[in-house]
Amino acid sequence: MADRHPSEPTPDEQGPGGVSSDPLAYSATPGTAPRGVVGAAHSAAMPGTSALRSTTPDAARDGRGSDDTPKDACGVFGVWAPGEDVAKLAYYGLFALQHRGQEAAGIAVSDFSNVIVYKDLGLVAQVFDESTLASLTGSLAVGHTRYSTTGSCTYENAQPSFKQIRGGRGSVALGHNGNLTNTSELSREVAENGLGDDMGATTDSDLITTMLAANPDLSLEEAAVGVLPRLRGAFSLVFMDENTLYATRDRNGVRPLVLGRLERGWVVASETAALDIVGASFVREVEPGEVLAIDADGIRSAHFAAPEPKGCIFEYVYLARPDTTISGRGVHATRVEIGRRLAHEAPVEADLVIPTPESGTPAAIGYAQGSGIPYGQGLVKNAYVGRTFIQPSQTIRQLGIRLKLNPLRDVIRGKRLIVVDDSIVRGNTQRALVRMLRESGALEVHVRIASPPVRWPCFYGIDFATRAELVASGLDVEGVRRSIGADTLAYISLDGLIAASEQPRSRLCTACFTGDYPIALPEEARLGKHLLEDLVRAPDRTPAVDVSGAASGDPGPVSVPPADPVAHEGLETPPERAGARAGYLNTLPSWGAVGALDRP
Ligand code: SF4
Repeated sequence: MADRHPSEPTPDEQGPGGVSSDPLAYSATPGTAPRGVVGAAHSAAMPGTSALRSTTPDAARDGRGSDDTPKDACGVFGVWAPGEDVAKLAYYGLFALQHRGQEAAGIAVSDFSNVIVYKDLGLVAQVFDESTLASLTGSLAVGHTRYSTTGSCTYENAQPSFKQIRGGRGSVALGHNGNLTNTSELSREVAENGLGDDMGATTDSDLITTMLAANPDLSLEEAAVGVLPRLRGAFSLVFMDENTLYATRDRNGVRPLVLGRLERGWVVASETAALDIVGASFVREVEPGEVLAIDADGIRSAHFAAPEPKGCIFEYVYLARPDTTISGRGVHATRVEIGRRLAHEAPVEADLVIPTPESGTPAAIGYAQGSGIPYGQGLVKNAYVGRTFIQPSQTIRQLGIRLKLNPLRDVIRGKRLIVVDDSIVRGNTQRALVRMLRESGALEVHVRIASPPVRWPCFYGIDFATRAELVASGLDVEGVRRSIGADTLAYISLDGLIAASEQPRSRLCTACFTGDYPIALPEEARLGKHLLEDLVRAPDRTPAVDVSGAASGDPGPVSVPPADPVAHEGLETPPERAGARAGYLNTLPSWGAVGALDRP
């Protein structure tokens, strides 16, 4: 157990009276107890860890997670590699995925007989140290970096989520990227089937783990093919028991998930950049509606639902790392192309193109290329103010925005500037930025945005803001321009963005720009990230939801296609597993079977 919470400053970092002298210092959720080891199935307790250091990962320095930006859903990582230090591979993999979640981090490892989970609030480098990682020995692991899209930022809600399978048949540890849309329905089913007490957290992810661990008569593999078709919404999952690593994506493949190969094992990760950092070669993406199982018998694949790809286009705009590739298209190249197209769609006379660092940089380079106007750096990011999103009040948030960027006055003074940013959410950042540039001597400030106006909330794992908070939901472009105080404002068109991504429109989700949600949204899905906490506080409350989905347009329970297990080129399935694999989809247990269980 940690003897001091990761978020607490070391004595050297504390100001007078032991209070942090950094006005933007990390602040954990009030009342959250310091923790470390959370789940140790059949295993000895791990040695505790002590204080955390003040290391600030690059992702935090990038300013991701600042108050006025979209909050990434989460990052997931899994590795199956006997003989390798899987905890350190997971640690470095999570480092590469830090930008996807900066509230909590965790790793589960198994040595083929015990699963141990270590997790805590904080950044990856704050949660883990050398001695902790040395204690996490095993042959397979899953890891998670969290930004909360369902449930509060508390220790209990950190992942991997962990359960012992009922009947003592082993355990399951799970990491989830995305957001379910039928959480309320599943929560009621769990409660009605006497499994409510198994829930240890208030997240849709914990709900999935509870369902997977519910049936003592099923292996995790068998349970998975019964549970996965019951889930609606967005989920890229990594999960494991003592012996097998699993990876799966929802039938729409909203969130990314890729498979990589190590010399002596396999890796799955949210982004290809995480494969690169551990030296894994990219094999392919996990397909929408597919589940992979990786263990000593090789790798097996099956589909639990027919794929209907609807990848998140915002991954290209902001969420993914620039050095990641999604559906064969490099994210950096996409962003540069967006800038080029933006220059042609929305030209303006100016002296200099500058980015809002760092997320606006590739599009600014593209805008400069497309317009012929010189590119330059006019703003410097304060390297140590990257986590202002955890400050609770709007007043402090606005201070944080002002503190995180510093103008290069010599560059700016007397210039007509084009400022390129990735997106506008509330508009606070751009408003403060335009004011700061004018105060620094800019003659004109023209704002160009590398995405269309964000007018609709995301229910699939990205926490933008409520619709009322989205500045573009209530104002047209001219209204937003006036609101932020720019001389001109222009956004890339949706057509331009899609063309830059080189993806077919039909395979993309664009709902936050269009309001056209590709996955039906029951009323409950609109209740927000604290849905389960609200239900706990008021258990009798019945959200206005048609469970059948008929009224909401939800097609109802999934009919699992009688598809054959899919053999993929390059994936190995030993002959002796062929029979087992053929039966993989034939063992579809129903959730009803789980409900028929006697309570212990
Ligand atoms: S609504 Fe926007 S952010 Fe959410 S999945 Fe769709 S494109 Fe991505």
